[in-house]
Amino acid sequence: MGGMAAAGMVLKGFPAIAQGGGTSPVIIIRKAAATAKITTTPLRGGISMLDGSGGNVVVLPGKEGKLLVDAGIDVSKPQLSVALEAIGREPVSRLVNTHWHFDHTDGNEWLHKSGAAITAHVNTRRHLARSTRVEDWNFTFPAAPAGALPGTTFESGKTIHHNGRTIVLQYYGPAHTDSDISVHFQEDDVLHVADTWWNGFYPFIDYSTGGNIDGMIRAAERNLKVTT
Ligand SMILES: [Zn+2]
Repeated sequence: MGGMAAAGMVLKGFPAIAQGGGTSPVIIIRKAAATAKITTTPLRGGISMLDGSGGNVVVLPGKEGKLLVDAGIDVSKPQLSVALEAIGREPVSRLVNTHWHFDHTDGNEWLHKSGAAITAHVNTRRHLARSTRVEDWNFTFPAAPAGALPGTTFESGKTIHHNGRTIVLQYYGPAHTDSDISVHFQEDDVLHVADTWWNGFYPFIDYSTGGNIDGMIRAAERNLKVTT
């Protein structure tokens, strides 16, 4: 049976904007996120996907607190909070970042402040911990505040047990960036593929932080193997 894929798709048109010069798409996307509408889509086994603020956020609710995959954009906190509350009253206790990009980690600080322990690939922490420039976005990110940094990191893979589920985190190797991981909810067969899958247009590959086309092809092949 095929798994379900959830990936970030907010960056449509991104490279074109950046190449044209002018305002960085990072600024445009952050501004839009302040008024973004969040849509909740149930997947399987109580797992939902929230889209509208940065990369798609996956939510696993339960007694141990919610587990989130990716954090959305910081300024969408009010709308994301309402959407999370509608899924269940329990707080967010764990957050997994699929890679370091701002549209997946911008909300790290507020989620950590409200009690979430953050897990990510070691390169996600490395990029967030210091000033990082993405040439294609014409933008230099300052070092993230301490609370936004993942407290738990890993290199090749890690298995999490949360709310009775087995959640396998697996490094792709350099692909879209050098920090991409897949998140596979084993029992429900739900797969979050970070930004290694782009629907209907050429993928953005962030060569500034280690992405490359061969790695993207390898990632696509792995995603197909897992989901078919
Ligand atoms: Zn990305």
